[in-house]
Amino acid sequence: MTKQKKLQTVLNVPTTNLPRVVVIGGGFAGLHFIKRLDTSRYQIVLFDRNNFHTFIPLLYQVATAGLEAPNIVGPIRKALHGKKNFHFRMLAVHGIDPEAKTVATAGGSLGYDHLVIATGTQTNFFGNAEIAKHSFPLKTLTDARQLRNHLFQSLERLELTSDMEERQRLLTFLVVGGGPTGVEMAGALAELRNHVLKRDYPDSDISLMRIIIAEGSDKLLTAFSEASSEEARTALESMGVELIFSQFVEHYDGSVARFKDGREIPCATLIWGAGVEGIVVPGLAKAAVAKSQYQVDEYLKIGGYDDVYALGDVAQRTTEKWPQGHPGVAQVAIQMGEQLAKNINALAEGGTIKAFKYFDKGNMATIGRNRAVADMGNGQHFSGFPAWIAWVVVHLYYLIGFRNRTFTLFSWVGNYFTYSRAIRLVMEPTLEEKLTEVPVTDPKV
Ligand SMILES: Cc1cc2nc3c(=O)[nH]c(=O)nc-3n(C[C@H](O)[C@H](O)[C@H](O)COP(=O)(O)OP(=O)(O)OC[C@H]3O[C@@H](n4cnc5c(N)ncnc54)[C@H](O)[C@@H]3O)c2cc1C
Repeated sequence: MTKQKKLQTVLNVPTTNLPRVVVIGGGFAGLHFIKRLDTSRYQIVLFDRNNFHTFIPLLYQVATAGLEAPNIVGPIRKALHGKKNFHFRMLAVHGIDPEAKTVATAGGSLGYDHLVIATGTQTNFFGNAEIAKHSFPLKTLTDARQLRNHLFQSLERLELTSDMEERQRLLTFLVVGGGPTGVEMAGALAELRNHVLKRDYPDSDISLMRIIIAEGSDKLLTAFSEASSEEARTALESMGVELIFSQFVEHYDGSVARFKDGREIPCATLIWGAGVEGIVVPGLAKAAVAKSQYQVDEYLKIGGYDDVYALGDVAQRTTEKWPQGHPGVAQVAIQMGEQLAKNINALAEGGTIKAFKYFDKGNMATIGRNRAVADMGNGQHFSGFPAWIAWVVVHLYYLIGFRNRTFTLFSWVGNYFTYSRAIRLVMEPTLEEKLTEVPVTDPKV
């Protein structure tokens, strides 16, 4: 009997003679770790603040009405059906006590023998409270739904005003950050404008809709090859997306975005895709964390601890090939999860553990219908329709659950042939409240 048995109280975790592995976070890393762990040798307790896993790469499709929210999430309990000695508790972990070997939650504290931290990232506004208050990030399902609501509500508001300045403000969408999130988002907005909105809003000149990407460096998709970066640029420009390079947005009050060089762009929507930071749970030594990521060794163990590991986006593993740490992509998280599970299984069997080695399968980003760029791990690059088909296949493959894959496939096929987006709904209308705050038409007219 290990010491955690005495501590278990309100969390109602069954008593066991097996060593207990506590996992924080049921994202890509956490789920793949648990799937591979031999639960005849370990008890697992997973904590997540949500009872579902989010397929983050498709959030932009929910935000732009391409997919319904339930299609890109999967219930955690269902994903791990049949896993014995597995217990899920829907709670956020807000502290770790490495001396007592416990984690703290609002429901009580639980002991662990091994702790696996896989908490992922949250949006980083770099301390800019104004931007945080008024912009739309894209990191959670709630973010995606709020953005969709706002997008279609802005267009409804457009129909109510004849003030040309206000109309242009409502029709301007500024995407900050030219990484995959910004590129995919801008591409999806351009498709909406070019194929869907014209028919929906005949009283407005939708061709005036501006979609702008503002990127701090001098190119798009900095983590991709030069060829992909250039092709993304050409494709977006041909779709009517405006690109601003080497500029930083430093202020946004919900109405006007101001850049570092002083230029201003009035816009009702600013989408923040400029950065994320690791979600660090308080409790470990300061030296274990650098720039909001846990520093891990080749076995994914956090420096200074024998029994605490970090995986995925919240872990930083530097090597000669990856001096800044591995990229924050789903494949790294999945492969880390699988390798750690194999190692912890090996510990129980008296086998040997292996260092984590990332097998780079490459990068992909879609820019719109029939358009994508793909860099393979072996250095090959392709683009256009073949890359787009590869993107569709890969994303369907990694979506959790047969139901989600089927519905998503049908939605994409439907959107492809009809050029339509079925889910352009305002689910939580606030338009009338907003009109009372700032009337959009002159009451005398
Ligand atoms: C908009 C966007 C688009 C992206 N597109 C791509 C793409 O196309 N391809 C790609 O490979 N990667 C993409 N990524 C990156 C990819 O999503 C991440 O690399 C991946 O999600 C990392 O997995 P993870 O398990 O580390 O974290 P996550 O998947 O973020 O999972 C973390 C989990 O931890 C839970 N959690 C957090 N804090 C706590 C706590 N204190 N207590 C309990 N639970 C907690 C969360 O609820 C969540 O379930 C994208 C990221 C973003 C933001």
